Amino acid sequence: MQLKALELTGFKSFGKKTTLSFTKPITSIVGPNGSGKSNVAEAFRFALGEQSIKSLRGKRGEDLIFSGSAQTPRSNKASVKVTFDNSNKLFNVDFPEVTIERTVFRDGVNEYSINGSKVRLKDVHELLAHANIGQTGHHIISQGEADRILSSNAKERRSMIEEALGLRVYKYKKEEAQKKLAKTEENIGNVESLRKEIAPHLRFLKKQVDKVERAKELKDELVGEYQEYFALEEAWLKEEEGKNKDALNEPEKRLEEIEKEIQDLPEDSPVDTSDFDTKVQENEFKLRDLEDESQNAFQKLSRIEGALELTKKNQSTEEKVSIHADTFSEFRNNVLKAGEEGERADSFGDMRKAFDGLLNVVRPFVDAYKTAEVETEDTTELEEEHAQLKEEYEKARSSVQEIRTSISELRTKREEVRNKTQEGQIKRLALTAEQAKLIALTTSHKERAERLRVEREEFEREHREALALIGEEAVRYEKTKVRDEARSVQEERKRNIQRMKIRVEELGGGGEEVMKEFSEVQQREEFLGNEVEDLQTSAEALKELIVELEKELTSTFNEGLVAINTAFNEFFVTMFGGGSARLVAADAKDEEEGVEDIGIDVSVSVPGKRVKGLMALSGGERALTSIALIFAMSQVNPPPFLILDETDAALDEANSKRYADMIENLAKRSQLILITHNRETMSRAGVLYGVTMMGDGISKLLSIQFEEAVQVAK
Ligand code: ATP
Repeated sequence: MQLKALELTGFKSFGKKTTLSFTKPITSIVGPNGSGKSNVAEAFRFALGEQSIKSLRGKRGEDLIFSGSAQTPRSNKASVKVTFDNSNKLFNVDFPEVTIERTVFRDGVNEYSINGSKVRLKDVHELLAHANIGQTGHHIISQGEADRILSSNAKERRSMIEEALGLRVYKYKKEEAQKKLAKTEENIGNVESLRKEIAPHLRFLKKQVDKVERAKELKDELVGEYQEYFALEEAWLKEEEGKNKDALNEPEKRLEEIEKEIQDLPEDSPVDTSDFDTKVQENEFKLRDLEDESQNAFQKLSRIEGALELTKKNQSTEEKVSIHADTFSEFRNNVLKAGEEGERADSFGDMRKAFDGLLNVVRPFVDAYKTAEVETEDTTELEEEHAQLKEEYEKARSSVQEIRTSISELRTKREEVRNKTQEGQIKRLALTAEQAKLIALTTSHKERAERLRVEREEFEREHREALALIGEEAVRYEKTKVRDEARSVQEERKRNIQRMKIRVEELGGGGEEVMKEFSEVQQREEFLGNEVEDLQTSAEALKELIVELEKELTSTFNEGLVAINTAFNEFFVTMFGGGSARLVAADAKDEEEGVEDIGIDVSVSVPGKRVKGLMALSGGERALTSIALIFAMSQVNPPPFLILDETDAALDEANSKRYADMIENLAKRSQLILITHNRETMSRAGVLYGVTMMGDGISKLLSIQFEEAVQVAK
């Protein structure tokens, strides 16, 4: 047996704990009116999660709690436990037995538990759905509710049929899938909006990162440029400085020498030859005197020599003149020579004048001599005088010669002095000129040195700048090859570095932080992207599942409907001895509704009656039709148990028999609990419970035999 027991504590008229055991396929509950039989059926509905208090014949939860009697105080709570055997895995849980308990308190609070563990109502519903025990109560037919399946609307009917067909579980699955889908779509929306939120930031960061990367590339490029630039500049500076220093060496040394040389030069004064001039003048005066003297001496000598000549017979006058002329000529030549030796024209002129004077003196002597008569006399005296005169003359001549030499020397010396002074001046001039040239040269070299110093400072400043902007690597150029190139190439390189530097500065720093943030945000975006993908995948899967479930629902429903219709018609024909009955799809009112939402109508045709439709049925006929449908539903998909509360009340004897036969047939697959006053029905039960209520207002339960039951029922 799948249904094992029912335990009521404080539920309605069951003020005391009462347990019903269901050990046989058919259990009948019998008892007088108002003893509390229907309360038992309601106890099932209550325990299985019925939410309509009204359908439990109450207004509030409190109405379900034993209200007490004169002898017995009221209960604080009503509690009902239903126990099932789960050895055949009726329920989808790993317990051999499943007990579902519901308690309601006076404040209206409900508690549910499964095997003693508190659960939610939803859990109870789910558990039951798996066991084909539904909420719509298609298997618990309350008193007077037998035709509920007929009186309810098409939609509700469909719901009951679905439940009877065990499709509730699909519905649950579908609803769950739909809820999950809605949640998933909501999540997709949330994640998408998160993505949207971070998208501009990510785009911004991407731009920054691009900038940083460009800056990095540019920096790498700049490092190369810098290294090359520095290496070349260093080499160039070194070479230029060396060259300039060397170039300065020579001229500086020379300048020092020149300075010394200039210092060593005599003072630069005008040429002073006055001493010499005075001396020359004095000597010239002296010469004039001497020349006079010499002339006198010569005249005297000439006279004597003339006289002497006359005495010499063998000597022709012309010869003598010639001799004298020779002597004179010699003298003249001597004078001329002296004059030539004096380099000055005026001195020569003086000489010439002196000579001409001398010639005037000599000429008369020659003339006189030519005409003179030669006397013959003793020459001794004359010769002596001649000798003396000659000596005097020679002496005078020699003095003249001396004085002339002296004049000449003085003049030469005077010239020397003059020349020497001029030479000094020339030398000074030359030195000064050279000095000026050298000063200009050294100045230009010094200027060059200064420029190089400035360039070196600039180089060092650039060095520091590169270090600050790029870092160590930019100034690591020891290994950079220095190529031979024009200076203009380096200058262009420098300009290029300037341009690159500006761009690097413009692109800015702070790269690492940006990269880090970008990577984080990108990761987050990737994560969100994956999340969306996952969510979309699961949304797709859910949609597919929903479609599958719908398909299954529809096909199972349609198949079930066919089977129910067959059984329904059979039961109907059995009950009515003819006619026909079937379930039909109601007209779809709303086009948007799915196939599974289409309601179900009941179409009946009672034998021998022309009027068709449910409206045309009598109370008894309605009851028979209801029973036929309920039994048909139960047969197609047998529930674990079926509770029928006085469903047989309206049946006549013949129908009671048919009803009892059908019950026996149904009991083969579902446990039956039958609340009944019907003898025929009681007769088919394996177990009979009698419910009584004495004067204390508490329902009591007792196991009874058929005969007793018949008695009790009466
Ligand atoms: P019938 O054969 O006429 O259908 P029944 O045996 O099905 O009668 P029930 O309807 O189950 O009888 O029981 C009704 C009885 O239960 C009434 O006597 C009513 O007073 C009692 N009852 C209902 N609610 C409570 C309650 N909260 N406390 C005590 N007794 C209650």
